[in-house]
Amino acid sequence: MNQIRLPKDVSFIIKELNKAGYEAYAVGGCVRDILLDREPKDWDITTCASPLEVKKLFRRTIDTGLQHGTVTVMLHRVGYEVTTYRIDGEYQDGRHPKEVVFTKSLTEDLKRRDFTINAMAYNEESGIVDQFNGIQDLEKKVIRCVGDARERFGEDALRMLRAVRFAAQLGFMIEEKTEEAIVYLANTLEKVSRERIQVELSKLLLSKHPEWIKKVYQIGLSPYALPNTEEFCKKEVQNKVVRMLNYLPADSILRWAGFLSFYTKASEGERVLKGLKFDNHTVEYVSKLIQYLPQQAEPEEKKIRYALYEMGKEIYSLYLILKKAELLAEKEEAEGEKKREFCLKEKQLEETEYLYHKIIERGDCISLKMLAVSGKDLMAEGIPAGKEIGGLLNQLLCRVLDEPTENEKEKLLIVLAEMRKRYFN
Ligand code: ATP
Ligand code: MG
Repeated sequence: MNQIRLPKDVSFIIKELNKAGYEAYAVGGCVRDILLDREPKDWDITTCASPLEVKKLFRRTIDTGLQHGTVTVMLHRVGYEVTTYRIDGEYQDGRHPKEVVFTKSLTEDLKRRDFTINAMAYNEESGIVDQFNGIQDLEKKVIRCVGDARERFGEDALRMLRAVRFAAQLGFMIEEKTEEAIVYLANTLEKVSRERIQVELSKLLLSKHPEWIKKVYQIGLSPYALPNTEEFCKKEVQNKVVRMLNYLPADSILRWAGFLSFYTKASEGERVLKGLKFDNHTVEYVSKLIQYLPQQAEPEEKKIRYALYEMGKEIYSLYLILKKAELLAEKEEAEGEKKREFCLKEKQLEETEYLYHKIIERGDCISLKMLAVSGKDLMAEGIPAGKEIGGLLNQLLCRVLDEPTENEKEKLLIVLAEMRKRYFN
């Protein structure tokens, strides 16, 4: 277990630093992931060289956070964060500690890290540096703070939520003392910025074990991480939502919509997301999905076209995925007659999916943009610019949603003439 194959570029960065007389190691998440046979998302490097010394050694670098000691080294279009050994002061609301002190000691740098499994370093010369029994905790599958848990959570309250998110990603348990400290200090999460909380909650929901969201409630973090979501505490709600999450692909909009699907009002979900400082796109999509989810998905082409018109194609396709996950979750729980009912509904949903694909492939008109006549065409027929045009276009669109083969200019102009004749008589 002592030999890790580093990617060529990581090995190159470490060796260049060594050649110039500095210590350097791959560190943190990448070492943990390699030991777990997981693909590391990125490779971080820690070194005793100062940021300016790092910058001098490499051709292309980006000043990612010089005051925190981080320089990104670019090699073959990939960025590697190289950070100077540091001791963190107290964390403030933002992403970084208020003050950092650079150090020449790798041990000090590893000590500032949150969990034992995240506090290991590696280079080819020294092998794995594991001063806090990270390997043992990987084997035991536990998340344990480096040093005294209450002290560590006192420095940065976000670590409490990180503990839950790593447990969810790795399928680990939270070690007893670590969990006790979370329960004791849960309310201090209030100080942490919403953006940092959002990142951890999203990683949790997108993980292999989204059901760990329950833990956020069990250990008292929810009033601070997810205010106004008490509804989720109801057992039957929790069970259904968690089952549903497990049927959803790891997509942020879908998992958040699944999680917040216990709301009947879209505005309540919107409030939660805005509180977490989500981007407008996510807020819009998730709220719409919450709003539309209660709508029935009936296997009837005309109804599907109307739904596509109302929701837009993109939301409709997400709506179907969500609908399916909800149905499978409900079916899983049901028994006897109820189960048979859900099996029938599942068949209907599959039929709806099939018809939806058929409609899209055939290119049926499902929006004003796809209508074979435009406002301009109507004006050319002598209709004055203004509100009337919009009304007529909508009537024509309804006609085409009812009967897609009508979507031809000549046909629609005839329909238009009839409509006007009726109107004037
Ligand atoms: P991921 O796969 O999500 O990137 P990661 O372990 O790389 O997981 P990051 O948030 O990228 O997590 O952090 C990189 C490393 O920095 C961690 O492994 C840990 O050693 C350290 N670290 C990050 N955030 C904190 C924190 N709030 N407190 C202490 N150490 C931290
Ligand atoms: Mg990382």
